[in-house]
Amino acid sequence: SDVVLELTDVVQTFAAKGTRIHAVNGVSLKIARGETVGLVGESGSGKTTVGRTALRLYTPTSGSIVFEGDDVSRARGGRLRRLLRRRSAMVFQNPSTSLNGYMRLGEILREPLDIHQVGTPADRRKAVDEILDRIGLGAAYAQRYPHELSGGQRQRVGIARALMLDPSLIVADEPTASLDVSVQAQIVNLLEDIQAERGLAYLFITHDLALVRRISHRIAVMYLGRIVELGTSEDLFTRPQHPYTASLASMELEPEHRIVPEGELPSPANPPTGCAFHQRCPIARPQCATDRPELKETTNPVSGQPHAFACHFPGELTIAAASHTQHVV
Ligand code: SF4
Repeated sequence: SDVVLELTDVVQTFAAKGTRIHAVNGVSLKIARGETVGLVGESGSGKTTVGRTALRLYTPTSGSIVFEGDDVSRARGGRLRRLLRRRSAMVFQNPSTSLNGYMRLGEILREPLDIHQVGTPADRRKAVDEILDRIGLGAAYAQRYPHELSGGQRQRVGIARALMLDPSLIVADEPTASLDVSVQAQIVNLLEDIQAERGLAYLFITHDLALVRRISHRIAVMYLGRIVELGTSEDLFTRPQHPYTASLASMELEPEHRIVPEGELPSPANPPTGCAFHQRCPIARPQCATDRPELKETTNPVSGQPHAFACHFPGELTIAAASHTQHVV
């Protein structure tokens, strides 16, 4: 099948200060081979937890994770390594802390091959040299240590390490957030080129809207542990149906056209009743405070593409047409 990853009704709760927090509260999402799905939301929306649960850094409290046709929701040990770890990888925000500073780049890159016992020692050395060439550093860098590199070079190594086992899925969590804008563009170009070469899927977690719009085929918007809107990048930015998405999309417009939600993100420990956005929503009505809207799957009438949203009054809050060309990172 073309589906690499399928999350169904994934719930992730954590114990905190004597209560249970629903960090993720019933998220369902499919990612196809070669597809980039952007996951956006404020910090505290649960997007990072979705990414980590998808790769089974956490075991979901409930719900299922099917990866390349195998249910890995509760897989452990060798089975988890074989089914999921061998075929997926994560790229982290901060390559300085995710790369072991005491290891040479050659060792850092060879490690996944050693763990999964791929090829002979000579094969592994060759694979390291090839990937160093591919990311534009060159085989001589195998002898260097992470601290000898720039931030952008370190993130290239983080990406290279993720690619060593030829994964079908990479979860990238704010991979460019710690880099300068000019370096960000190079990293995004590298990720796009590699996707075109290898047909791998990305779950791309970020709060950078210009970036997510550029890189994603589809975007899921999260709010307080739930997906509130899911559709093509174009539909979400030009025809958002959920007021929260409209407010995010409006941030790309001139200041007078921006829709700024009132107040702050409520605590996931004490989520509002009804629609979780109702206290901040500019068009909330009494029904919104009591009835929680389900994520409804529809077809966007303009684009004809699948478009899902969780709002009682979809499309009522419209955004001004973009008064400038899209900002490209
Ligand atoms: Fe706003 Fe009501 Fe829609 Fe929630 S359900 S986003 S409060 S209009």
